[in-house]
Amino acid sequence: MKILFQVHSGQSDFTQLNEVCNTIVAFFPDALCVGSSCNGSVVGENVASDGVSISCTIFERPSSKVEVLQYVINEESAGVVAEDLVREVGARPWVKGIGILTASWGISLSDFCKGLTKLRSGVQVFGGMAGSSGDGSSSYVFSNVCGYSENAAVFVLYGGDELLIETTKISGWKPLGKIFLVTKSEKNVLKELDGRPAFEAYSKYLNIQNDFYFSQNTMEFPLFYNENGENYLRSPMACSEEGALLLASNMKNGSMVRISYGDPQAIMESVRQGTIKVSKFCPEGIQMYSSIARKQFWGDDDVNQETSPFNFIAPTYGFFASGEFLREQTLVGLHNATIVIAAMREGVADPSRQRSAVVSDGTRAGKVSVISRLANFTNVSSAELMEMYNKLTKTSITDALTDLYNRGEIQRRIAERFRDARGGKMSLVMIDIDNFKSVNDTFGHQEGDNVIQGLSKQIQMATFEKAPDADAGRWGGEEFMIMLPDMGVKEAVEFAETVRSGFARIKFPAVGFKTISLGVTELRHGDTIDKICTRVDEALYQAKGTGKNKVVVL
Ligand code: GH3
Ligand code: MG
Ligand code: MG
Repeated sequence: MKILFQVHSGQSDFTQLNEVCNTIVAFFPDALCVGSSCNGSVVGENVASDGVSISCTIFERPSSKVEVLQYVINEESAGVVAEDLVREVGARPWVKGIGILTASWGISLSDFCKGLTKLRSGVQVFGGMAGSSGDGSSSYVFSNVCGYSENAAVFVLYGGDELLIETTKISGWKPLGKIFLVTKSEKNVLKELDGRPAFEAYSKYLNIQNDFYFSQNTMEFPLFYNENGENYLRSPMACSEEGALLLASNMKNGSMVRISYGDPQAIMESVRQGTIKVSKFCPEGIQMYSSIARKQFWGDDDVNQETSPFNFIAPTYGFFASGEFLREQTLVGLHNATIVIAAMREGVADPSRQRSAVVSDGTRAGKVSVISRLANFTNVSSAELMEMYNKLTKTSITDALTDLYNRGEIQRRIAERFRDARGGKMSLVMIDIDNFKSVNDTFGHQEGDNVIQGLSKQIQMATFEKAPDADAGRWGGEEFMIMLPDMGVKEAVEFAETVRSGFARIKFPAVGFKTISLGVTELRHGDTIDKICTRVDEALYQAKGTGKNKVVVL
């Protein structure tokens, strides 16, 4: 039989926790004891805000194993600690899950999380960053193996044939509409969003000041972003005088982030889904690593509505953390504003233990429905703005008659490709309708327009089928330009021929058949944008001068 005590203290002072642990170890000399500072703990169906809470897990099956490792963790060692842990777990084939407790305030844990992806598949990772009581005091972790530390990681290894672990993550935070681009970020220091100090996103939109309460005020509004297909919520831990935000993991330049908020209905729905998943597993005990942000969001009196349903399924114990770890597939993520659940069981599932918890729908409090409605208001109005912006953008780059790009846009795209090509291929095709003046003169301007539209449809069809990456634009009057990226002159001629022959087959009701002339050229060493455009124009001119209805290459 193995005994694991988990002990968490809502007090910044370690002495009380130390006393509790010493007493435990004195009574149970063979037991393991791990713990941390926290911002409140979850004990059964209740939430304790301060004081020390104790949970005791007894592993009854002889095959079940628990072991504790502890490492110093800082900016330099974070990656190495992960490597060491991977090695230790490699040497212990019985390990099925790792519970993490870290005290690592202010450092980036990206290398640590990245290193853990090398753990053998199937090893679950869950846990939390130690919280502090929120008055700026330090956070710490503890184990009876290595003692107390303000910069250490404690790993509890769980495993054995009959021990089973099921993990899940609960969120319910939703991004607000406004998108910010990360324009300057160095590792875990997010300096600028949209070219302005990152702090301004919070001061301008949420009226949060850069003062002592900054991290407390922003906690409920973490940044939402996607990395490698996973969504993350990241609360700033601190804000510098210059307005840079300190995060618990690296932020890449060029990332798109949004400010997120807790939506009560989405939260309770996420909790409901979580309870269904956990209940199917028929656990005997549940570990919960919940975010301080969630406790702050609901308030001390209401937060148990999202924690207590789990206790209905099995005895639940956990604490409010500054960050939550969870391995999903191979990636180990560090999250904010989530609940990470690790449900455990020894032996086969006992279906009689399966209980469906009752979860409230999150609509009961007046305050929360106001939040949902205001968030909805913000989201709808920013969606409307976005739609208007997109419409305006589209109008400003599109030619109204043909729906192709206008001259300015196709020129911009050619220039952009020219810059980015870097030895890559690019061809241009320029088109002009033959003897077009006579169409206007004989059948009128409207019929002329129909012919122009007929040609643009033909161009669209050909690019759709043969050159999906191509950009086509109206160069002026009845002249068109097509930019074919990654295409050499041979393919470009084939493409031009497709357009020419396709167009020649169209019979316009009043006008009858028309033809086009085409110039083709490809990007050459030493070209300028001017040179290549002049060359394609010259090719077209030659096509006109040598009988029209043909493709000429220069
Ligand atoms: P070529 O075979 O040498 O190209 O002879 P062309 O008659 O087609 O001569 P050109 O290309 O110079 O003719 C351009 C004409 O296209 C002049 C102008 O009246 C007409 N045009 C320009 N833009 C439009 C338009 O938007 N709609 C219509 N209907 N006609 C236009
Ligand atoms: Mg013409
Ligand atoms: Mg012309």
